Amino acid sequence: MIYACVKCEFLFERKNEPSKCPSCENQYVVGANAKQRQQFQELHGNMKELRAAELKARQQTN
Ligand SMILES: [Zn+2]
Repeated sequence: MIYACVKCEFLFERKNEPSKCPSCENQYVVGANAKQRQQFQELHGNMKELRAAELKARQQTN
């Protein structure tokens, strides 16, 4: 599950509910909403796909 810090809005993934934010150590950490989850996926989840697509594009132009 993806969690969001209320204070600094840091997004991070944890299997179990975290007791504090890994970034600012604030205790108010909540489950990320749909928009935040999408943001997280764009930042982390699609990284590999983006790199693979970029490599492919380069190989084709060379
Ligand atoms: Zn925080």
